[in-house]
Amino acid sequence: MHYTFPITKNENPKPKPDPKDIGFAKYYTDHMFFMNYDEGQGWHDGRIIPYGPLTLDPAATTLHYAQEAFEGLKAYKNPEGKVNLFRPDMNAARMRRTCERMCIPEIDEDLFVSAVEELVKLDADWIPDLPGTSLYIRPFIISPELNLAPVAPKSFWFIIILAPVTPYHSKVSHILVEDEYIRAAVGGTGFAKCGGNYAGAMRANVKAAKYNCDDVLWLDAKEHKYIEEVGTSNAFFVIDGKVVTSPLTGSILPGVTRDSVIQMLEKWGVEVDQRRLPIDEAIEAAKSGRMTEAWASGTACVIAPMGLLNYKGEDYPINGEQVGPLSKRLYDTLYGMQTGTVADDMGWVVTL
Ligand SMILES: *Cc1c(COP(=O)(O)O)cnc(C)c1O
Repeated sequence: MHYTFPITKNENPKPKPDPKDIGFAKYYTDHMFFMNYDEGQGWHDGRIIPYGPLTLDPAATTLHYAQEAFEGLKAYKNPEGKVNLFRPDMNAARMRRTCERMCIPEIDEDLFVSAVEELVKLDADWIPDLPGTSLYIRPFIISPELNLAPVAPKSFWFIIILAPVTPYHSKVSHILVEDEYIRAAVGGTGFAKCGGNYAGAMRANVKAAKYNCDDVLWLDAKEHKYIEEVGTSNAFFVIDGKVVTSPLTGSILPGVTRDSVIQMLEKWGVEVDQRRLPIDEAIEAAKSGRMTEAWASGTACVIAPMGLLNYKGEDYPINGEQVGPLSKRLYDTLYGMQTGTVADDMGWVVTL
């Protein structure tokens, strides 16, 4: 079922930024989606309104206890000038799972997708079309309710904002293997896209920058032994010609791109081993050259090849810091499908 929403047009639309200068979410579009939840009414009054600041009471629960859920997906301009979305139903389903974990009332998946589609259609002329660019879509839920006791609130806001973006990483990335801090433990909120996971990760990102690294490779919380994921992306390694990625243990985020990569590789006849990969095995494979490539996958970067692992102060380059053939083929295929230059034979692309 598709929903439509009342629109209050922005009377003062902003000038569009120079496509060469959009960066990662430096600018936001003219409109946002807004929907309320109140006890007894459920989710109600979905509407599109001018983009602008929120008025939140300083005692709002969200500000103190970080009870929040978010999603991230993208819209692309295809060669016919139409708008493509990539598997938005997967984001809708994941947001429901995040809500369930965070004690936030779930949003009907059709309602979520309709809200994304209607907002993107209205601000479609903000979708940039330089190679690699897209319009980033950020749905999120917070509670405006006043309560300094950490109990589940009964009113919420669901908001969607849009920002044109250029690719996150533009070269092979250097990755710090983090063996001190952890991101998430089984039983915690690692599988959910919620703000608190990222607040706790910022310390490790600062540390990575000190080691001249672009991102962090997380190990499992219990033994600091098994590879989990990279920053805000899932991690893949090619060892002895076989692709290895962490299974969905409960502490890693089930990426839409991760799922797409696995399905695509399987279609190409490339074996994907979803197993817990010990960091010692990965380092040994990088050292001996048996690791021929590695990449991170996520909506923001699509596919970001890893050029080097830094572990306990030592650098371990992968494949001479060159982009490997599978990374390139996956990027070209997925980004091509998303932007409509490669035929979608998986039924993943939704054209508006
Ligand atoms: C969003 C995210 C991913 C990637 O998920 P996609 O759906 O592919 O964008 C991976 N790991 C973490 C921690 C994330 O937040």
